[in-house]
Amino acid sequence: MPGVYISYPFCAQKCTYCNFASGVFPKTLEPHYQHRLLAEIATTQWPWTPETVYLGGGTPSLWPIDDLAAVLNAIPGRPWCEATMEAAPGSLSPERVAAWRTLGINRVSLGVQSFVETEIRRTGRKHTAQIVAEDVALLRANGIEEINLDLIAGLAGQTFESWRISVDAVLALNVPHVSVYILEVDEESRLGQEVLLNGKRFGAPDVPSEDLQATMYEYAADRLAAAGIPRYEISNFARPSHESAHNLKYWRLEPYLGFGADAHSFDGSWRWQNAEQIDAYVQGAAPPPRDAADKLGERYWVGLRLSEGVHDLEDYRPQVDRLVADGLLQRDSGRIRLTPRGVLLSNEVFQEFLTDAHS
Ligand code: SF4
Repeated sequence: MPGVYISYPFCAQKCTYCNFASGVFPKTLEPHYQHRLLAEIATTQWPWTPETVYLGGGTPSLWPIDDLAAVLNAIPGRPWCEATMEAAPGSLSPERVAAWRTLGINRVSLGVQSFVETEIRRTGRKHTAQIVAEDVALLRANGIEEINLDLIAGLAGQTFESWRISVDAVLALNVPHVSVYILEVDEESRLGQEVLLNGKRFGAPDVPSEDLQATMYEYAADRLAAAGIPRYEISNFARPSHESAHNLKYWRLEPYLGFGADAHSFDGSWRWQNAEQIDAYVQGAAPPPRDAADKLGERYWVGLRLSEGVHDLEDYRPQVDRLVADGLLQRDSGRIRLTPRGVLLSNEVFQEFLTDAHS
């Protein structure tokens, strides 16, 4: 069954590593965004009833409750089997969490990134390890047990020792789902730009090497697996039956509708993306163009993100053979999967399955 993604792009600060279309926008923009979002949802012909909802952004945990309620009340299908709120640690309150629960939210993803205060401060975030522990306790007190904690390997000033502190802290909180990302260095974030320019701002000179980032990632993967939280997708780890039902739809090529600035949609055949910039979205830019999905290629370069891999069919035979010979893919019981080395070099693997590579 399909899912719904809703974007709330407003944040309390712009984190140095963030490459999303989110930020600190004037308060006066918010009613216009809300108006446009409700109009977008109201004009939707629902071809199906969603079973999952995902509130991302941005920082939807800052969404004023009345506005959030108006949006969720417009989405059919409540109670959804899974409804996730992305939350910034420290933005939770007993009233807010109780209201989320009433509105159907049953899963919360906390953007922790690190439990080491010096690292957190350099990203622009304000929380502490203590605040994260209190947030987790508050969610559980309100009956929300499906909790994800995000970590990033590669933050400025991070060392292997400090990474171990963060991994220990995640395990101590005993949550059923953990996401481990490797820092993305690109032009879209201030830290990424600074690293690319060999600059000194935002702690860029103290970003750990790519080799160390890979070591950190593998260490976290091993520790999580040993604790009964194995990897099920390149960046996602969960106890069995606690995987994100919504995010699995992306990787299994199931349909979803996205609402709000920069939201993506996929109806099974076509993909489209709303205006990325909040101003353009609020002004009601023309309906976004639709692109035919490259179903064959996507089945590989999206499906291979999952530990379950994809069926080993005849398509892309030369590419698959070469990647198996290079030790990046493995064949197993009629399926192909990334090897541990393939996980670290996944972008190179996926490149082989982009449309142009198919001959
Ligand atoms: S990382 Fe999250 S909280 Fe920080 S700016 Fe990006 S969307 Fe906002």
